[in-house]
Amino acid sequence: MIVESALQAESAVRRDIVPAGDYYMKVVKKGQTVRLLDLEGNQAADTLFYNANDPVERYSAIDTIREQGNVYLTAGTKILSDQGNEMLEIVADTCGRHDTLGGACATESNTVRYALDKKCMHACRDSWLLAVTENEKFGMSKRDITHNINFFMNVPITQEGGLTFEDGISGSGKYVELTAKMDVIVLVSNCPQLNNPCNAYNPTPIEVLVWDAAA
Ligand SMILES: [Zn+2]
Repeated sequence: MIVESALQAESAVRRDIVPAGDYYMKVVKKGQTVRLLDLEGNQAADTLFYNANDPVERYSAIDTIREQGNVYLTAGTKILSDQGNEMLEIVADTCGRHDTLGGACATESNTVRYALDKKCMHACRDSWLLAVTENEKFGMSKRDITHNINFFMNVPITQEGGLTFEDGISGSGKYVELTAKMDVIVLVSNCPQLNNPCNAYNPTPIEVLVWDAAA
């Protein structure tokens, strides 16, 4: 569902450019709104959410899908935790839908899906592991890396119930925006994938903007 935002970039309290292959790991406070902006289009932003006050509580694809009765995420989606609590709500979306079934790229999946010599290529799972290692203050480790959301990524379900990675439906300047319902750690891997069309074989930067509640 296409819903545009009324927020102006100039009033954001924080703006970060995240190059492809890099990560973003910061706290978004309850009431703040965070926007992921696909700067050049056709990018994939592999995202995990955690309760900032107790990271053991984290995003649950299963609970989110079951409660909304739809496998795609878009405006109106309540992002639920594994404890059934609302973590964020998608309040604007100019892309239309986002995947949460396809998982993130890893060196292992690159090897299985593409070729043995893809093993050493940079993958989202590496970016997350680097993020939790470089941000010790959150007290997280490899065991905290779980199922994720692929913002902007197009993973349609076939008639037969299969999953396919398709050319992206996002474009330059498209965005998704979420309002936090609790203090959340936002962990994004801006996907470096070169082997499938999810980012048009050309990984590009995204921007992450944050607004205070008053905005
Ligand atoms: Zn990836």
